[in-house]
Amino acid sequence: MITMMNIVMLGPPGAGKGTQAKFLSQEFSIPHISTGDMLREEISAGSPLGKKVEEIIKSGKLVEDKLMIDIIRERLSRKDVEKGFILDGFPRTLSQAEALDELLKSMQKAIEYSVYVKVPENVVVERLSARRVCPKCGRIYNMISNPPKHDETCDVCGVKLITRDDDKPETVKKRYEVYMEQTTPVIDYYRKRNILFTVDGTLNVEKVKEMLLNMVGGI
Ligand code: AMP
Repeated sequence: MITMMNIVMLGPPGAGKGTQAKFLSQEFSIPHISTGDMLREEISAGSPLGKKVEEIIKSGKLVEDKLMIDIIRERLSRKDVEKGFILDGFPRTLSQAEALDELLKSMQKAIEYSVYVKVPENVVVERLSARRVCPKCGRIYNMISNPPKHDETCDVCGVKLITRDDDKPETVKKRYEVYMEQTTPVIDYYRKRNILFTVDGTLNVEKVKEMLLNMVGGI
């Protein structure tokens, strides 16, 4: 029986990390911790933190490491992570990866699986322009490959889907650049530790899900 499952999801924006993280979260009953979702919630709530990060997110740049590490430290101190967690969107820089290791060490924990969802830039751009999100439940759709059943409304909530501000073409380009520069070293960081599992993110959602479940569950 699996007792602990600490996972990080890696890959460019639009790779399908969030979609797959939600599946894994359901399958293993462990929380899906998306730093992007957490920051967007702060923005919607109009909190001081939200105000501070709003422009940074819109520009496609990264929020400063210290702030992100503080957010993760607080989140991982909650009880619901006892049996494991799935980090999606963190760590995004080498110093975040190192700080995460330190933090987990102090809690007698470690990352067991890092999942790299690999997709090329042209697929990222194509996918993000077709991406829609439910503002209520956070479910992610793609108007070409995974559209909702009715018009542009969420299958679960019936709420009108939205396009994220940072999914605009100019911002997507910047986000990809930032990813290549700052986040790809994190992939090597986990590869060197022999806990990197690479999955072809250009395959359809169900296929990627099946591969991930085999990978993570089979070890
Ligand atoms: P995401 O939903 O993961 O694509 O995140 C959306 C935006 O939130 C990113 O483009 C960053 O501006 C910010 N963000 C989310 N997670 C992090 C992180 N770990 N470090 C820095 N910025 C982050």
